Amino acid sequence: MPSLQSVISCLSDYDPTALPVAQANRIIADVVEPVSGIEQVAIRAALDRVLAEDVVSPLDVPAHDNSAMDGYAFASAALQAASGGEVTLRVIGTALAGEAPGLVPAAGEAVRIMTGAVMPAGCDTVIPQEFTQRVAQGTGETAGEAAGETVRFAADAVRAGDNRRLRGEDLARGKPALRQGRVLNPADLGLLASLGIAEVKVRRRLRVAFFSTGDELRSIGEPLDAGCVYDSNRYTLHGMLRRLHVDLIDMGVVRDDPAALEAALRSACENADAVITSGGVSVGEADYTKQIMAELGDVTFWKIAMRPGRPMAFGRIASNGHQALLFGLPGNPVAVMVTFYHFVRAALHRMMGADIAPPPLMRVRSAQAIRKKPGRTEYQRGILARGADGQWEVRITGQQGSGVLRSMSEANCFIVLAHEQGGVAAGDPVEVMLFEGLL
Ligand code: AMP
Ligand code: MG
Repeated sequence: MPSLQSVISCLSDYDPTALPVAQANRIIADVVEPVSGIEQVAIRAALDRVLAEDVVSPLDVPAHDNSAMDGYAFASAALQAASGGEVTLRVIGTALAGEAPGLVPAAGEAVRIMTGAVMPAGCDTVIPQEFTQRVAQGTGETAGEAAGETVRFAADAVRAGDNRRLRGEDLARGKPALRQGRVLNPADLGLLASLGIAEVKVRRRLRVAFFSTGDELRSIGEPLDAGCVYDSNRYTLHGMLRRLHVDLIDMGVVRDDPAALEAALRSACENADAVITSGGVSVGEADYTKQIMAELGDVTFWKIAMRPGRPMAFGRIASNGHQALLFGLPGNPVAVMVTFYHFVRAALHRMMGADIAPPPLMRVRSAQAIRKKPGRTEYQRGILARGADGQWEVRITGQQGSGVLRSMSEANCFIVLAHEQGGVAAGDPVEVMLFEGLL
């Protein structure tokens, strides 16, 4: 693993007291590496897990050319041979889904075919039933109920190759069907089942320990003494981490006390791959937090050029031969969530070996003017909705203080105001990141 110092020393314009968001994320990405450890699980249990190796398709899916419609299969040469714009074909029998192919129509003949049935030899096109006229003739004896009918349709109702699914068009045998690093979703479970695959290799779950720091914090159930607040960060962290499907170690509240902090960090480090703390890293907090974190490993303290969420500690700590990644998040409840989503989430995905694209940004109209200074990234909490004219527009959720958790609860998106940009006028486009899929 590359050391923090070696990564940082490669940056020409590194300033830990005004670090741009993008630079902090680049440093984190360079330091963080996937954990090792693989397990084999049944596909139902693989939902939301990270695929540890490519799954190569053992089959062609579909296994045969087959019909996409209920209709009549025929050889497309009949379209060119049509006289007066009409095609007339004699039906020699019926092909049902799940049946082995058998019927072999000759020129001037067709097979009545159901969706999913194997295309008869020599046929490449299906005319859907609704475009045809059936002309009954004779009694259909041996070759099924449709035999003996004649079917007629306009030659321009279909083109050669229409309504036929090709063998291997979903998945070709020998080709990777799913790539390692993929976080398996419901479609993927179905896809694995369609290949007859019962079990897959996935990465082991990440273990993440977290605790809150602060003498003013009380846990639910305790009396709220004067000057105290209930610890909410442990609950938002619990929720955010659950969504990432990691194993959680909730270590409670740790007092602002050097010995207690060191003991908590050591225990977290010995039991988890990553440790997340909140509080105690801001200016004005006693310096022992930094001292202890620094003594336990390779940790750096940043003031990030962002709002909310300026102070953050990041690095690696070690205790009794165990190592863990450390994120020391700010204490303010909104800052915890913002720094989690914009730094920690991607780092944990990387540790899990998950190959996940950053959440997309959408450009929409701002319903109001927003004040902002160039030189920092802002994550305002917004409500995206349709405006009076039916176009999407976003407004901020009122009070944007970094302690106002209601702003996160009411919002359905972040309004992401980029590092360089200044204020926004009402009606200007802004970029939003939807909470759906993120939170
Ligand atoms: P700190 O970064 O420790 O100075 O905390 C900044 C602010 O966040 C203070 O007002 C703290 O009371 C508040 N705070 C810190 N930790 C928590 C927590 N776990 N739950 C709620 N508020 C917190
Ligand atoms: Mg504190």
